[in-house]
Amino acid sequence: MTHTTDRTADVAVVGGGIVGLAHALAAARTGARVVLFERDERAVGASIRNFGLVWPVGQPAGLYERALRSRDVWLDTAKRTGVWHVESGSLHVVRSAEEEAVVEEFLATSPHAAEQGCRMLTPAEVARASTAVRPEGVRGALWSPTELNVDPRTAIPALAGLLEREHGVALRFGTAVTGIDLPGVDTTEGRWRAERVFVCSGNEFQALYPEVFAASGIRRCKLQMMRTVAQPDGWALGPALCAGLTLLHYASFAHCASLAALRDRFDRELPVHRAEGVHVLVSQTSGGQVTIGDSHRYAATHDPFESAEVDRAILDYFSGFAALPRTRIAERWHGVYPSLPDGRADLVARPEPGVTVVNGLGGAGMTLSFGLAAETTADLG
Ligand SMILES: Cc1cc2nc3c(=O)[nH]c(=O)nc-3n(C[C@H](O)[C@H](O)[C@H](O)COP(=O)(O)OP(=O)(O)OC[C@H]3O[C@@H](n4cnc5c(N)ncnc54)[C@H](O)[C@@H]3O)c2cc1C
Repeated sequence: MTHTTDRTADVAVVGGGIVGLAHALAAARTGARVVLFERDERAVGASIRNFGLVWPVGQPAGLYERALRSRDVWLDTAKRTGVWHVESGSLHVVRSAEEEAVVEEFLATSPHAAEQGCRMLTPAEVARASTAVRPEGVRGALWSPTELNVDPRTAIPALAGLLEREHGVALRFGTAVTGIDLPGVDTTEGRWRAERVFVCSGNEFQALYPEVFAASGIRRCKLQMMRTVAQPDGWALGPALCAGLTLLHYASFAHCASLAALRDRFDRELPVHRAEGVHVLVSQTSGGQVTIGDSHRYAATHDPFESAEVDRAILDYFSGFAALPRTRIAERWHGVYPSLPDGRADLVARPEPGVTVVNGLGGAGMTLSFGLAAETTADLG
């Protein structure tokens, strides 16, 4: 194992969210001496505010492999850290003819997903797979076995600990990078030297390479989230859950011609949900609570307030297809992630020699970061 010395490293990583952590891991695996700078005392950004769902089924054909590679890294790091995780798989609950048509078209046109075991379940199979799904009106569900549920509040710190312990990564929490002029990396604790820098700064678009972000058309997406009280001991969610609105959200379904009829129906029947970008995912935490969200508002700057109407829309839709032993909401929060226009999956830019900006993973950072980092660090080894 190699360590940084005298404020000198081979690779410096800016940002202690999942994108930065994944880059630090990938770089350290090549044998590089790595330092990671995080301006806050611990990660408090999008990476600890999410569902903790590694969600290959939402990725289109070209990114599915990247998602599966990320999943393998998550499983490996979970094994090495002992952190809570569940190979949960997922159910897209189907309750209308329009939803059924989209799922059938997806299965017929997505051999990569079918190969992994994605298939349509009958209502009886849905009832066996999940006690949380309401049986009324269920026509079936898209079962996907590849989804993984981690708890971001425990998994992200555990990953940072693993980097330090097993890979010799120097973690500089509470240290902001204020400028890069290689081999100089200026920080709030003084100047470091590094050969390469990966800038994984999440929502911070102004401090480093603002021109890269300005040219990309990147915006901020604000999402509202809730978490229930702990469910009774021994109760488990099983597969992560979602329903028809999610078919409109993920790129994996975007090619389906049958989506137009489903979109028309939701536009007519659920105008508030559509206007607020509500689609509902349900995951579990290491403490037995259930996480329910979310909504999507896009802007350069968001107000810091949560909308009660949006929370109501999320919970109304949730209670249409699922029920929990304990429904009391214990926590509400919002998260913000950077989002690229035109459905682009990531922003990887090299504004000057030795510097790589990695950003814009949108709602899929937990799903794609490890796979992407293996690609962006490939020339290090
Ligand atoms: C509510 C919500 C739910 C989501 N659900 C899922 C999900 O279930 N599955 C999934 O795959 N994805 C999900 N996502 C998306 C995922 O969380 C993001 O794609 C991912 O967290 C982005 O990671 P990041 O490292 O870019 O950003 P962040 O986690 O925000 O980390 C960036 C870090 O960089 C630091 N930083 C910035 N500038 C500097 C500087 N100059 N010096 C030092 N440090 C700096 C910041 O302090 C911050 O900690 C969700 C996101 C949200 C908000």
